Amino acid sequence: MNVLLTGGMGYIGSHTAVVLLQSGHRLVLYDNLSNSTYKVVEKLTQITGLHTPFINGDVRNTQLLTEALATHHIDAVIHFAGLKAVGESVEKPVDYYANNVQGAISLLEAMQSVDIKTLVFSSSATVYGEPQYLPLDENHPTRAINPYGRCKLHIEEMLGDVAESAPDWRIACLRYFNPVGAHESGLIGENPDGVPNNLMPYIAQVAAGKRAELSVFGADYPTADGTGVRDYIHVMDLAEGHAATLRFLSQSPGLHAINLGTGQGYSVLEMVRAFEKASGCHVPYRIVARRAGDVSAVYANPHKASECLSWRALRSLDDMCASTWRFQRSERSGMTL
Ligand code: NAD
Ligand code: UDP
Repeated sequence: MNVLLTGGMGYIGSHTAVVLLQSGHRLVLYDNLSNSTYKVVEKLTQITGLHTPFINGDVRNTQLLTEALATHHIDAVIHFAGLKAVGESVEKPVDYYANNVQGAISLLEAMQSVDIKTLVFSSSATVYGEPQYLPLDENHPTRAINPYGRCKLHIEEMLGDVAESAPDWRIACLRYFNPVGAHESGLIGENPDGVPNNLMPYIAQVAAGKRAELSVFGADYPTADGTGVRDYIHVMDLAEGHAATLRFLSQSPGLHAINLGTGQGYSVLEMVRAFEKASGCHVPYRIVARRAGDVSAVYANPHKASECLSWRALRSLDDMCASTWRFQRSERSGMTL
């Protein structure tokens, strides 16, 4: 298939690009580089031996996007592009609605104008809000608790209306749990600017000596060791989930919301111990107050993904930590982006 990846230069997009290229798809990466660099294209070539066209553009530029879809005879779009920091979304809600919701509208306009009706959207487990029960299945009520999550929900609702409007739309909203890890080459990975918001990149930077210690946000949750529990999923498993989704959509019109998680939760302290084992480095930490807006435990029921996509996450926590560490080390030695 010819597939256009909006936000294809980012963390999840670049790993998905590797999997899709290696499965024989032809790709176009469309990204405004607001949270990525041009070097990703070179890394993709290094990993796959294939050259991938890249268009430096904003998804809100409907005309440029339409031209890209038409010129490259695109069959399907995977929409990764968006801003993703929850805290920043609270401070700058207008930026988030403008970039994420307006971006999705622009993409739909472009797709509609050239009659492309297959779309995979990067949604998030954040659309479930505070869990009413665990594990979270796709029928769990949705309720966003911050502007980032509300953007995801608005877009999912919009996609529901679009899918209702004509029977030949094929749309998947993939609700990611906590993507971590990196490609085994250590050439691409998650490389946050400034202080990482997320646990795994923070732990990696502490292990590498870049930061003094990890702040563990709360040890008084009703979990086995008192720290927060999440469903961490290897980014390469997640990437393979996208390839499986494209296969599924080719047989399945309509709108589908599907969890991409492992079904297994790990606590913050379990993550620290696993990372110490994989890296051989000590990760000092201090227990501090809970982070506002955090919930105690979140993990997926991955049953629907396994039924519909014939896909499940295969990589272990050790793989997640070891690949993160490989990327962290190569990043420090200047090999990567
Ligand atoms: P990322 O920031 O690494 O990648 C997003 C890419 O989109 C970047 O390369 C950025 O430059 C680009 N981009 C942003 N706005 C754009 C615009 N207006 N036009 C063109 N390009 C634009 O993020 P990621 O972790 O790869 O996340 C990809 C998607 O998955 C996002 O939609 C995110 O909300 C969603 N998601 C991520 C996580 C996670 O923990 N990483 C969890 C759930 C959902
Ligand atoms: N966390 C932490 N210290 C950090 C970052 C995160 O203790 O510096 C905890 C956080 O409270 C949560 C888990 O690690 O329990 C995962 O947090 P992350 O921000 O990575 O993902 P999310 O909260 O979005 O699921």
